[in-house]
Amino acid sequence: MSLKLYNDLTRKKEPFVPIVPGKVSFYSCGPTVYDYFHIGNSRPFIVFDVLRRYLESKGLEVNFVQNFTDIDDKMINRANDLGITVNELAEKTIQDYFEDADALGIRRATHYPRATEHIENIIFLVMTLIEKGHAYEIEGDVYFQVSTFPEYGKLSKQTIEELQSGARINVDERKKNPLDFALWKTHKPGEPSWESPWGKGRPGWHIECSAMSMKYLGETIDIHSGGCDLTFPHHENEIAQAEAATGKEFVRYWIHNGYLLIDKEKMSKSLGNFLTARAARLKFSPLAIRLFMLSAHYRSPINFSEETLEQAKAAVERLLNCWSDLQHARTHRDLGASEHSEQLQAIERLFDSYIEDMDDDFNTAGALGSVFEVVRLANNYLKDNLVLSLDVLEKIESFFKKIDDVMGIMGLTDNEQHEDSSEIERLISERNQARKDRNYARADQIRDELADRGIILEDTSEGTKWKIQI
Ligand SMILES: [Zn+2]
Ligand SMILES: [Zn+2]
Repeated sequence: MSLKLYNDLTRKKEPFVPIVPGKVSFYSCGPTVYDYFHIGNSRPFIVFDVLRRYLESKGLEVNFVQNFTDIDDKMINRANDLGITVNELAEKTIQDYFEDADALGIRRATHYPRATEHIENIIFLVMTLIEKGHAYEIEGDVYFQVSTFPEYGKLSKQTIEELQSGARINVDERKKNPLDFALWKTHKPGEPSWESPWGKGRPGWHIECSAMSMKYLGETIDIHSGGCDLTFPHHENEIAQAEAATGKEFVRYWIHNGYLLIDKEKMSKSLGNFLTARAARLKFSPLAIRLFMLSAHYRSPINFSEETLEQAKAAVERLLNCWSDLQHARTHRDLGASEHSEQLQAIERLFDSYIEDMDDDFNTAGALGSVFEVVRLANNYLKDNLVLSLDVLEKIESFFKKIDDVMGIMGLTDNEQHEDSSEIERLISERNQARKDRNYARADQIRDELADRGIILEDTSEGTKWKIQI
């Protein structure tokens, strides 16, 4: 495996070596399902979807787990505002999540565990932590005692002393240390609750990810990912809970994506630049949103604006036009089968450099450079019948299919309607025949049918060409 990943735990790029050869255990922190997810949240969903697909393209079997946080203060408050139960709110929001995630081409995870469906696992983990002296109970609340885990702070590179001096003067004076965090919260009136050894209550936020990661993937896993805002305290706490309980390393590679800015500002409800992924995908095409997310290194900040999205859209169109021109050439030109080794090698070299970039800490921005170099070459070859032999054309097609299977920026693999270009060409010939026969009703019908599928026809001197509209 030549893939290297930047590990936030060691602050180094490291060769990626899975614990079990050929298999990858991958946990990605999912949304709190109290409302539509916002465009900033869709960044980890998209980039880690691409990382997962890339690992799969290397023949690895990826067990990909993403949780839904379906109980916490935000859930309770929002459900109260709407006058529905927390469970009803979760059901509805999870449905909305899948609608948006599917539209954005995010492949389904292997498992989607929910906190409220794993209360037993959570209680068991909290009991283990109390037994081992890492947690204590006060009046039905259970806290993790940070001072019993000297490595606390190792992910965010802060010592317990530094963290203490920065901690807010607290709040809950019953805690032994202001850094101690809640594993279990005692029941308050009007809140959902579950029976536990400490009376009725509900889990704290952090504990669910440790419990569910271990349940579905084992005590030590390969990759844990999330947005950089989760590094502290969420991921620091996940490490403390899991490693204090098992005495084993929890996660081999911690990876975090950078912030998404909107018009160069941090997104916030108060700034009025709060944008849901749903609004964004309805305004800009999902393919453009994906390409935009991959146009920067995943660890760098990225700026979402009307302009950057228009650029991404134009880039997707360049790709798709090149694809449909190739399909047109395949059907209508007499392409020789003779080998053009120079052209074939040029495409192969670009595929190698795409792989090299992806292997280098998943540098999608660099990899896209190779993709668009292939588009440039393909457009040149399309102008010159002498160099566009069938094998060159097929080489380019297979390049596009491979990169699309990983990046999902062309919709070839995940959209059957676009995949079957011979069917499109057949309908176009039928339409041309209908026009010759002056059967304009049938010709228009075919045009409309294709338009419904997002295929736009253009009558040119080279015959009728088609484009995929995004
Ligand atoms: Zn996490
Ligand atoms: Zn989490």
